[in-house]
Amino acid sequence: MLVKVIFLFLAAMVLVALVGRALFPSSLPRILRKRQDPPRCGKCGRYLIGQKTCACGGKAR
Ligand SMILES: [Zn+2]
Repeated sequence: MLVKVIFLFLAAMVLVALVGRALFPSSLPRILRKRQDPPRCGKCGRYLIGQKTCACGGKAR
């Protein structure tokens, strides 16, 4: 009985991972790394610490 509950829990985790990868294909590796990269400018690639827009006019990814 307990083994069945554990198996169901693992199956649910796999399902969540598959759904998450389908919805956010680029964010899953960061979640697995458990450390998010700082936001970077989508235009020039500069790191944007504490700001949403870049000096070049681009926006953070
Ligand atoms: Zn920029």
